[in-house]
Amino acid sequence: MSKIKSKNSLDMTSEEFKEYGYQLIDWVADYLDNIEKYPVLAQIKPGEVKSQLPGKAPSNGENFDRMIDDLNKIILPGVTHWNHPNFMAYFNSTSSGPGILGELLSAAFNANGMVWKSNPSGTELEETVLNWFREIIGLPSNYFGVVYDTASVSTMHAIAAAREYTGLDVRTNGMTGLPKMILYCTEQTHSSIEKAALTLGIGLNGIRKIATDENFAMLPDKLEEAIKEDRLNGYHPFCVVATIGTTSSTAIDPVDAIANICAIEKIWLHVDSAYAGVTAMLPEMKNFFKGMEKADSLVINPHKWLFVPVDFSILYTSKPDVMKRAFSLVPEYLKTTEESVINYMDYGIQLGRRFRSIKFWFVLRYFGVEGLQQRLREHLRLAKLFAGWIDENPNFERLAPVYFGTICFRANPNNNLKEDQLNVLNEKLLNVINETGKIFLVHTKLKGKFTIRLVISGLRMEERHVEFAWKLINEKLNELKNQ
Ligand SMILES: *Cc1c(COP(=O)(O)O)cnc(C)c1O
Repeated sequence: MSKIKSKNSLDMTSEEFKEYGYQLIDWVADYLDNIEKYPVLAQIKPGEVKSQLPGKAPSNGENFDRMIDDLNKIILPGVTHWNHPNFMAYFNSTSSGPGILGELLSAAFNANGMVWKSNPSGTELEETVLNWFREIIGLPSNYFGVVYDTASVSTMHAIAAAREYTGLDVRTNGMTGLPKMILYCTEQTHSSIEKAALTLGIGLNGIRKIATDENFAMLPDKLEEAIKEDRLNGYHPFCVVATIGTTSSTAIDPVDAIANICAIEKIWLHVDSAYAGVTAMLPEMKNFFKGMEKADSLVINPHKWLFVPVDFSILYTSKPDVMKRAFSLVPEYLKTTEESVINYMDYGIQLGRRFRSIKFWFVLRYFGVEGLQQRLREHLRLAKLFAGWIDENPNFERLAPVYFGTICFRANPNNNLKEDQLNVLNEKLLNVINETGKIFLVHTKLKGKFTIRLVISGLRMEERHVEFAWKLINEKLNELKNQ
């Protein structure tokens, strides 16, 4: 059914848009229905996609049918399927029907929310849904939210605000001639904190990593000591980053104790809860978030575990005035007369911003708070179930506590191999598992041990998928043992 496009129309005609639009909606629905038929991890070699694409863009417009053909033939085989229920790598992030439809609308409006006037609905919807979510996770009403693309960018803005909070007027004078600013975190802190430091002129040497306990959580006493020592040496401690749910092992820094130190020392506390933060929606998880209401800033990514398609990261801050002081710069053409409105351009580097709130609004409304809580609870249940299987099996051991939906483990058959042999064995095991294309896991290193991570956060994940993963892991370990 190839329809020749109208030569007279500037855009695609509405007939054509509907025809291909309906076709693509069908395509997406079938794709999601059949998601389990695809290999989780793209089974292609580097360069394979590129080699099938022409070296030059077409001179004349092409028919949409051909694009869809190429989508199926060239692009689809090179996609790693994050929506697949056996995708248990990284922090799995899945999209959802309402999230996908929200993205469609945001592209359709193409409204750029620099200032209130340039997209009033986008501005006010963002404010509204972030206030809803603030209440859902139990943050006090003095927190102000901003949406950025990723946690890395949210955190960079938070640390820039921390730098502004020193009162050293870096905004005007830059960093030269100032005492060395020091940021505190741990070995387990996400690399985005280091990226922020190298972007903001703090430098990697401005980061001091505080020792952790046996569960990889920051030791507050050590933090206190380090701050005192740095002050004696003429440095300027300015920021602590505490994590609730670290990337490697989902460790939880004692935010409450750290917050008390920061309050005494007048140091900005940023809490990175990019992954685990959404579980603050559950009353039974509240103890993991003790003290979060004392943070100066806090990052949570609904695109990691709340079925909002990437990208969607929220930064909450109790000091929006400081963020604004760090970033507000209003050229003449952007001066507006409306008072008491938010102009989101004042809270960050970027001027233009997408209409992202619409997809979060759709997800919150479609599933409802209870619907989302139910799904999160099921993931937490499945994680405990899998952890139990590991704990009961003499061929495996768990290498970190399971607080959320992530299990860190390794094969350790009957406890009779040396550490270096175990590292080799587990790396092999992970590779043969991933080579099947049936599930996808990644590893980390914990105390030098090669650690396999299994993450349960996909919208389409059920108990049978976790059972399947467990069976496959056992099968592959047995094959390796018998070699
Ligand atoms: C994933 C993650 C990040 C980075 O998130 P992006 O949105 O990809 O930048 C930062 N911190 C923690 C704890 C994370 O889990």
